[in-house]
Amino acid sequence: MKLKFLGGCNEIGRSAILVDDKILIDYGLRPSDPPEIPLLSSSIAPRTVILSHAHLDHSGMVPSLMNRGRRPEVFMTPVTRDLTQLMARDTIKVGKEQGFVFFGEEDIRQLDEHTHLVAYGARRPLNGADYEFELHNAGHIPGSSAVYLRKESEDISLFYTGDIKMGPSRLMECAYPNAFPRADILLIESTYYDRDHRDRKELERAFIDSITETLNAGGNAIVPCFAIGRTQEIVMILHSYGLTPYIDGMGLSVFKLFKNHPSFVKDAEALNNAFADAQFVNTRRRKRALAEPSIIVTTAGMLNGGPVLYYLKQIHDDPRSKVLLTGYQIEGTNGRRLLDEGHVETEGELVRVTARVEQYDFSAHAGDTELKKLISRFCRNGTEVVFTVHGEHTNEFAAWARENYNCEAISPQNGEEFIIE
Ligand SMILES: [Zn+2]
Repeated sequence: MKLKFLGGCNEIGRSAILVDDKILIDYGLRPSDPPEIPLLSSSIAPRTVILSHAHLDHSGMVPSLMNRGRRPEVFMTPVTRDLTQLMARDTIKVGKEQGFVFFGEEDIRQLDEHTHLVAYGARRPLNGADYEFELHNAGHIPGSSAVYLRKESEDISLFYTGDIKMGPSRLMECAYPNAFPRADILLIESTYYDRDHRDRKELERAFIDSITETLNAGGNAIVPCFAIGRTQEIVMILHSYGLTPYIDGMGLSVFKLFKNHPSFVKDAEALNNAFADAQFVNTRRRKRALAEPSIIVTTAGMLNGGPVLYYLKQIHDDPRSKVLLTGYQIEGTNGRRLLDEGHVETEGELVRVTARVEQYDFSAHAGDTELKKLISRFCRNGTEVVFTVHGEHTNEFAAWARENYNCEAISPQNGEEFIIE
């Protein structure tokens, strides 16, 4: 089996792994300004694409594969299909503003036509049956999957975790590694290598206390969230503590889409109730949302565009108000800039933020202990080769695996190719 890593190595963003030049697992873009795309994007010609989940850094470039001579067949869960369509349309819109074009409306339509929906646990043949694959709930966002792929003629298999979460959340049923098949090769995400998450209940309480404090002081609590997953998680948490937020941005469309797929969330009723009580803001009502002490849950989660920048501009020097980041802020984003340098950039303008900025780790990724347990589990079951991907410390993670297990552990570089026999 030949693996070629086209992106997502030693970085978070533009995940793309090409298997035997035929099967592409994920095809993302790194949503920086300008976005970065996987290597060899104009020359690869996969016959099949398996998509782990709809986050842009995994799915963002899939529509671009439709403007080639031969269009690949694309496999994913039903929620991932709907989300990917939504995100792709947003990418076209953002591209118009920022001056990039990777695909058009027609490619999105073609993608829909070439999409095959896959249920968790259903084994499917690929490419004339020399391969078979299966998706498993990855617990990361609705529809997210880990991918098992087996090549019949070489009797070799791989397991790709995608983005995976084993711990508790309000929105998602977590991943159950005990249900995963054994595999010869493991490709594991490394986002939280060397960092464990704080206890979820404790984290929720600290977050709620801080918001209550802000409201009591007469300020606005600005809560930047990814549209997919995080917005719904945060709205559910707030609702369970009796707090009613305003919601602005794409998180609402994503919620409406989740409503069509209740089996992909843990508690559809709790999710619906939380959104039924929330208030929705459009461009015209933004001023009103700020006119009183309020909680505003808004996109983008890493502050790279979206309505959150409007709110930041309004409250940036208000000592009563707060920005409560809800996740990891990757290098090169406004969110990271805000944490490291105390300002954000919007439309060429530098906005210095003197309002309080706090960060809460509502991560949808496995923490260090869980990642290590996962490697341990696979290696005990016969995995011989481990690739650490999707992280900023993949080298250290691979070194840890080599030291602790009798496996070959590799932190691949973008563009590197490996043949495993
Ligand atoms: Zn993700």
